[in-house]
Amino acid sequence: MTDLFDNAATESLRLDLRLSHEVIRRLRNRLLKRFLPDFAVLADFAVTADVPESHHLKLHCLELSQRYDSQIDGATKLLFRTEAGLPIETVILRIATGRTTLCLSSQVGCAAACEFCATGHMGIAQNLSAAQILDQVVQVGQLLTTEQRQLHNIVFMGMGEPFHNQQNLFEAIECLTDTRKFSRAPGSLLVSTVGIPEAMVRCAQRFPSVNLALSLHSVDQEVRQSMIPLARKFQLPEIKRALTEMNRLQKRPVMLEYLMLRGINDSLEQAQQLAAWTHDINVHINLIPFNPIDDAPHLQGSSSEVIQQFSGSLKNAGLKVTTRYSLGTDIAAACGQLVRQVTRPT
Ligand code: SF4
Repeated sequence: MTDLFDNAATESLRLDLRLSHEVIRRLRNRLLKRFLPDFAVLADFAVTADVPESHHLKLHCLELSQRYDSQIDGATKLLFRTEAGLPIETVILRIATGRTTLCLSSQVGCAAACEFCATGHMGIAQNLSAAQILDQVVQVGQLLTTEQRQLHNIVFMGMGEPFHNQQNLFEAIECLTDTRKFSRAPGSLLVSTVGIPEAMVRCAQRFPSVNLALSLHSVDQEVRQSMIPLARKFQLPEIKRALTEMNRLQKRPVMLEYLMLRGINDSLEQAQQLAAWTHDINVHINLIPFNPIDDAPHLQGSSSEVIQQFSGSLKNAGLKVTTRYSLGTDIAAACGQLVRQVTRPT
């Protein structure tokens, strides 16, 4: 079987089946740019019975097994399974402005084991291939086509720490921005990380227009590592150096994600510490109300008054601040909630 993301394999198939370059170009345009249904993609690609299976064209490597639509907002969670039967969740966010964002998974499970995240409590991690990452885009794109909606932004914020799967992540970004394949604007992509400094800088060097979001959550080393075990290894001074270097490479703000947890990181004093820590770097702070998970019943979200005061304090210090309200909380599709419900009995 051959997949359309793989240049060498597609070229070999083209030669074996004596297809013109034009046939391959049309196939890719229909599937990767226009997200047409499979039958339309294959309209002029007749596979005859005497063609061995190794030369069949493969449009998908994930099987869609379930779909959950939010009853309260425009979120949809799709549960895919790999050929080995492993679950992957992908979220579509139909935002009120009319824009649509796709939240992709880069791994099954996640080894980063963040305290506040259901995926991190799965205790397993397996890298998705570039094709498995990209098939999430293709199948979501096809679904949106049936709704006459366009896909605007793609964020690597689903299951997994993308930089733990760096090679496949970079290959997927290459395909997404390649004008012969998905042809997406690099600025419409965002990679979210808990903070692996070398990889952050490498990503900014290789894809300077791709956006990056760092899950910071605290500028107190002890507090941060109680939330993100990986923070013990990659400490705040190293993270700060990486952010400074990214500012130099990208010349625009880096997004800092800050999950608002009651009594842990939401005091006004902590807001002032955050303002002081960021005074010499170009950042945009995104405050995130916490979505409860069963695995961490001791964690509670800050109240909306506290979030407002925290935000006000940062703004008074001259920082750019927004608050992100998650979609899909009723279908466990919000940030940090992915996959627990399909891997364990409830
Ligand atoms: S928040 Fe992200 S990096 Fe942390 S455990 Fe969850 S999926 Fe992994």
